[in-house]
Amino acid sequence: MASMNIDNVGKAYGGLTVIHGVSVEIPDGEFVVLVGPSGCGKSTLLRMVAGLEPITFGDIRIDGKVVNDLPPKDRDIAMVFQSYALYPHKTVAENMGFALKMRGETKADIEARVRRAAEILDLVPYLARYPRQLSGGQRQRVAMGRAIVRDPKVFLFDEPLSNLDAKLRVQMRAEIKELQRRLATTMIYVTHDQVEAMTMADRIVVLRDGRVEQIGSPLTLYDRPANTFVAGFIGSPS
Ligand code: ADP
Ligand code: MG
Repeated sequence: MASMNIDNVGKAYGGLTVIHGVSVEIPDGEFVVLVGPSGCGKSTLLRMVAGLEPITFGDIRIDGKVVNDLPPKDRDIAMVFQSYALYPHKTVAENMGFALKMRGETKADIEARVRRAAEILDLVPYLARYPRQLSGGQRQRVAMGRAIVRDPKVFLFDEPLSNLDAKLRVQMRAEIKELQRRLATTMIYVTHDQVEAMTMADRIVVLRDGRVEQIGSPLTLYDRPANTFVAGFIGSPS
């Protein structure tokens, strides 16, 4: 668990500014959803939080400590990618334990952590299988398992469900929320799907063209949208 403070963070590529000073304070254990149309800067912001992309200005703090210059591996953050990012020639257990192996952890420790994550995710019967032998939902759970074994302070999700069909998406939304309840970990979840945002978030950050339009609970955004952009975006069908 950790609090996260995104303080006036900006990003420019060459001379072009794509994130214009975004500020979001996230208390310990909160589930925050970044939502907004394609190209508004959601992935860029998440990658800066993860340390995968340098920030151009501003500060990112985890538990009050500035992490701007820390490499990703030293930030206690795990990012969940889409299911296709699994290693096809490694088993479920090997996929989940790979980062720990790279970190030089002992075999016994890796096995114990993988086992615990598999129990949380209902993946124990599948540990010896390969990704191609799994359903889409199981693959997505393996992707989450890779993050859980690292015991991060913060989880980041970048549109993790966009490859899945509608029925599975609804199921996985509930599973991710259940995961957050069990782990009580701070999570930042990116989506362009306003239904996903409204059903999953403690608070929603609405982005447009690299700026925050509004931050608030789903109910606040629904009842008191700050402007017509927020009202239109929240109100439109997915
Ligand atoms: P989103 O995830 O909300 O769809 P992105 O964060 O991917 O948006 O992109 C935000 C803006 O930054 C877009 O205009 C995109 O073209 C631009 N952008 C993203 N990555 C790069 C890059 N590596 N070089 C130049 N421009 C980029
Ligand atoms: Mg994106």
